[in-house]
Amino acid sequence: AEKAYQFMIRSRIPGGALTAEQYLVQDDLSERYGNHTMRITTRQSFQLHGILKGDIHATIHGINESLLSTLAACGDVNRNVMACPAPVSTRAQAQIQEVANKLALHLAPKSSAYHEIWVDGEKVHSSEEAEEVVEPMYGQTYLPRKFKIGVAYPGDNCVDAFTQDIGFVARVEDEQLVGFTVVIGGGMGSTHGKKETFPRLANPFADVTVEQVLKVAETIITVQRDYGDRTNRRHARMKYVVEERGIPWFRQQVEERLGYTLSDPSEVHFHDVDHHLGWHQQADGNWFLGLHIENGRLKDTETQRLKSGLRAVIQEFSPNVRLTGQQNILLIDIPEEKREALEARLQEFGIATDPAAAGAYRYAMACPALPTCGLAVAEAERALPGVVKLLESSLTELGLDSEKISFRMTGCPNGCARPYMGDVGFVGRSKDLYNVHLGGDWQNTRLNTIYAQNVNVKDIPGLLHPLFVLWRDERQSGEGFGDFCHRLGVEQLKERTAAQATT
Ligand code: SF4
Repeated sequence: AEKAYQFMIRSRIPGGALTAEQYLVQDDLSERYGNHTMRITTRQSFQLHGILKGDIHATIHGINESLLSTLAACGDVNRNVMACPAPVSTRAQAQIQEVANKLALHLAPKSSAYHEIWVDGEKVHSSEEAEEVVEPMYGQTYLPRKFKIGVAYPGDNCVDAFTQDIGFVARVEDEQLVGFTVVIGGGMGSTHGKKETFPRLANPFADVTVEQVLKVAETIITVQRDYGDRTNRRHARMKYVVEERGIPWFRQQVEERLGYTLSDPSEVHFHDVDHHLGWHQQADGNWFLGLHIENGRLKDTETQRLKSGLRAVIQEFSPNVRLTGQQNILLIDIPEEKREALEARLQEFGIATDPAAAGAYRYAMACPALPTCGLAVAEAERALPGVVKLLESSLTELGLDSEKISFRMTGCPNGCARPYMGDVGFVGRSKDLYNVHLGGDWQNTRLNTIYAQNVNVKDIPGLLHPLFVLWRDERQSGEGFGDFCHRLGVEQLKERTAAQATT
């Protein structure tokens, strides 16, 4: 008999926007074919785990029927387009979602192969009449590697714009969207011991109007298609083309292909990464509720029936749903008079609506890693909660428990939970061992740096506690933990904590 191969199926959900019905389809599929959990990804999508090979067709069919897709959620194409998901502001905010949607559609592969079934080299089923579909942008060979785009709201870097191949940062004047500042060449993935690979922040590239967005994105992608490294997959992302050839060269390529000159980029300022948790009023007077989801994993446990509770509330109140880049969920479009009943219903399932209930984990993120990711060399989702609990005890003991610190852990250096950004990153090296990175900023505009290598997971709290003490005693007014570590630098941090240990 054939082995019971299990698969992960990821949907394409631009901007993490789902209707209540679409959410319920994902929930239903995870119960019917999956492992009874759903996982919100760091790119505002859903992954269903534990799908048996024989159930793949039924699962993808179910997703397609709900008018979502799995097309381009994987592969060497443009992946799920991220967008600030919070409906807090005016029309401009709505347009950001709209732009993300248009980008996703415009940049989706046109191939009919998605709807074809081949057996032993013969096509046995196709939903398309046309024999061959030309890929106008991807060509015959698609891209050298995956490609990522995020659309940010001004001031709020909740889509981690500088980690994207292309980040579009909205420019809003008098509450009207007037265009975007484009940043290019970001990316997280690296490989331990391979110097030609590294995490990189995107650079300012140009300002574009709303009308120019699709064509400029497409043109940037064609430059990567033509110049990206196809000989070494570890070195194939667009960030290496930008790094090695430079922004002026890249811009010249794009302008030649466009046939016009682009405007110079405006300065981009982010003052926050808003997790959009708790209750907020929308521009239309309705409300939305942001719920913290530990590592984006929707499941039932003995103390909290998160998955069942969300299903019940979404069935009964029909809110639209948004998934966030921090793996949280927003229930949106809730009328004022329904707020209390909805909250009471969630509480029946043990679901806290106060974001403070998540404690220090409120700003933490881990990738799935073991046992579901084939590339993982260390734990992440199953290890980080325990680590953060211990760090939280340290912080509480030092009176620092109300501070915002982002902890991010991944099971390998690919960096799916963006561990090279934020205050503290843990990057898996091998079983139980992690590189510890410090010194990013809260707004995710600076990469952190390696502070210690191959630290056993058990030793992480002991490594960070003296740094917390130093920070508490010597920080400048309002200085975040990452900013403090960055200001002192690795060497000084090591010297100072060593001195602290001997006194
Ligand atoms: Fe991504 Fe690596 Fe985590 Fe797998 S183990 S989810 S590839 S970061």
